[in-house]
Amino acid sequence: MNVPLLDLKAQYQTIRKEIEAAVAEVFESQYFILGPQVKACEEAIARYSHSAHAVGVASGTDALLLALMAEGIGPGDEVITSPYTFFATAGSVARVGARPVFVDIDPVTFNLDVKRLEAAVTPRTKAIMPVHLYGQMADMDPIMELAGRRGLVVIEDACQSIGAEYKGRRAGSIGTYGCFSFFPSKNLGGAGDGGAMATQDKARADRLFMLRVHGMEPKYYHQLIGGNFRLDAVQAAVVNVKMKYLDSWTARRQANAACYDRLLTASGVVAPDRVQLPQVVANRHVFNQYVLRVPRRDELRAFLQARQIGVEVYYPVPLHLQACFAYLGHQEGSFPQSEKAARETLALPVYPELTEAQMAWVVESIAAFFKKI
Ligand SMILES: *Cc1c(COP(=O)(O)O)cnc(C)c1O
Repeated sequence: MNVPLLDLKAQYQTIRKEIEAAVAEVFESQYFILGPQVKACEEAIARYSHSAHAVGVASGTDALLLALMAEGIGPGDEVITSPYTFFATAGSVARVGARPVFVDIDPVTFNLDVKRLEAAVTPRTKAIMPVHLYGQMADMDPIMELAGRRGLVVIEDACQSIGAEYKGRRAGSIGTYGCFSFFPSKNLGGAGDGGAMATQDKARADRLFMLRVHGMEPKYYHQLIGGNFRLDAVQAAVVNVKMKYLDSWTARRQANAACYDRLLTASGVVAPDRVQLPQVVANRHVFNQYVLRVPRRDELRAFLQARQIGVEVYYPVPLHLQACFAYLGHQEGSFPQSEKAARETLALPVYPELTEAQMAWVVESIAAFFKKI
């Protein structure tokens, strides 16, 4: 049995007609830049993420970059973030000329360890960028409390966590900005690159709308130095169709995660030296990824891959050990929890269209691995 990490074709089959009609409408209108589809998408994202405003942008990466640009963060400034995330989080900080300041993760949630935050704040700190990794939100109350007390901006990297909740509040709605990605493998994926930003602040939203079109207002009068960060109308049309299904797909992801929990527990592999299950701490985990902790991760990964089971490691090298960040002066041992996570995490397929038979085969295979060793 073939179990891919993600099966976008399976999802496409279920919505093909609607997607084709939505895309055809954009082509018929020949309205490719901004326009009604982008506006509708922004309204839907604002509503869904419990935010007053949303701004469509070209990618999740651009959302993070634009948030930093909008706050005028640059050379001499520091931004606190996690070393255990996709590169774009800290990459965007470096791109505006600021310094990424890493704080290690909590080993249970893989999100920022809020107990270590305060010690990382200096007079140069301008922002905290918590990442809501795998679909579960970071511990936002202490982050917001610290940010309020020290006058810091909070930029939520919610690229993996649209619809996730923390104490009943949605990802992207708590910080100064929330950043979302429509990369195809995200829970709300487009047909290419795309993203969005959420904010509760009208003045900030207006600034984002201006920055994404070269700081232009009115036409050919440039108030700010922005760029071309626009969300494509075709992507917006696709996202608008998929938005209607997001809650049902998220429910499927959660059901799949519960199914894995059950099957893995029943198979007897759950033990500190074998397989540790993902822990749900926040109150709505949207399972962009279902991630186990496995001390013998590399051996298990090879075993599952040989059986055509699509597993993946998010992420094998923490950001403080990436070649491009050597100038930050970190080394092995600087952030031990992130390094341990990079050695031990293994993501299983959890996409909505996955079947129980497929999950049973994945778990049977994991059990077979531990029987063999
Ligand atoms: C996907 C992702 C991004 C970047 O999004 P793109 O749309 O691919 O640019 C940023 N941060 C995290 C945590 C992500 O998972």
